Amino acid sequence: MSNRSTSDFNISTQITQLGRDASKQAGFVNVPVYRGSTVIFPTVNDLEHNRAEFNYGTMGTPTIASLENAWSALAGAAGTVLSPSGLGAIALSLLTTLKAGDHLLMPDSVYRPTRNFCAGMLTKMGIETTYYNPLIGAEIESLFRPNTTTLFLESPGSQSFEIQDVPAMTRAAKKHNIATIIDNTWATPIFFRAHEHGCDLSLEAGTKYLGGHSDLLMGVVSANESWWPKLRQTYDLMAMLPGAEDCFLALRGLRTMHLRLKEAEKRGLEMAHWLSERPEVMKVLHPALPECPGHELWKRDFTGSSGLFSFVLKPEFTKAGVANMLDHMGIFGMGYSWGGFESLMIPFNCADYRTATTWQPGGLTLRIQIGLEDMDDLKTDLAEGFARLRAVV
Ligand SMILES: *Cc1c(COP(=O)(O)O)cnc(C)c1O
Repeated sequence: MSNRSTSDFNISTQITQLGRDASKQAGFVNVPVYRGSTVIFPTVNDLEHNRAEFNYGTMGTPTIASLENAWSALAGAAGTVLSPSGLGAIALSLLTTLKAGDHLLMPDSVYRPTRNFCAGMLTKMGIETTYYNPLIGAEIESLFRPNTTTLFLESPGSQSFEIQDVPAMTRAAKKHNIATIIDNTWATPIFFRAHEHGCDLSLEAGTKYLGGHSDLLMGVVSANESWWPKLRQTYDLMAMLPGAEDCFLALRGLRTMHLRLKEAEKRGLEMAHWLSERPEVMKVLHPALPECPGHELWKRDFTGSSGLFSFVLKPEFTKAGVANMLDHMGIFGMGYSWGGFESLMIPFNCADYRTATTWQPGGLTLRIQIGLEDMDDLKTDLAEGFARLRAVV
């Protein structure tokens, strides 16, 4: 046996080893699905002192702990908890850092259901939300109030892909004892080290690249040393956890996540460059392309890009043209979510809900997720789609 441990290896090696121990699994490679509510204590003394590795189903199982521990190691976190969806992870994070009377700062580019949670749930609890320009950087300090306790970040922004100056913003927050939460779903810990860049809590819609097959809903929240006890406490108070099979599927997804992300990166970049050459396209909003707001920050802080981005059509195209394009695609499906094996494309319009900034991209906008289909087939599908777009003006 080598005396090197998992943490000595590179990330793609780590991902194959984290959270499993064949010697505790009757020799089998993978952690089995533990289903259960009840855990038996051998003696009254053990029961009274809660002396057990697990003491009740809501407090965790070996399957859940395996995923939590693997994720903590991958994210460089002190601890991790799970949630039945990405939105659940957002709720859990916010309920960890906020209390009645607090003030919260949210990027105007945030995932729209996060906005709904603030309006529909946090308002009811007497928590006020202010939306800010995602490109504000260190200037965020001017929006801090005496009762500001949480600064939320999402980089890149949902649909519009602005990259935020996370180190500058977390530094400003730390000076004022303000907790920082980041929605790191797009990059995952493989392409952005959220805790190393100063974030207290980092969440991931495991529904996307962790699951990777569009058959799973999952949320993951990791915390640094100072916020881990609070996060775990909030989780234990609510007992909102994913089902055993979903944890098993997420662990399975984890084993290939590095490979899938590297492939998504390669394909995303190839398609982003191809689209930027198309006469119908005005601008490609991909963090690795210079015209994406915050591109320089992406170059400085990220180690890669995933397979989801947006593009802006030239102003002459119409909604009817876009419908003619999207209604008849051969490969690209129209639907929410992303991070699976299949290509997707949807129209979107951030102007419908922004409040702190004006969204004026200069043309109609589409968000695209590049799946694992043949690249030439995908380009042909898009080229035929563009012909339908041009046919209706
Ligand atoms: C999809 C998504 C979520 C929510 O995940 P669900 O599992 O669908 O609830 C949160 N944040 C971002 C950035 C997402 O893309």
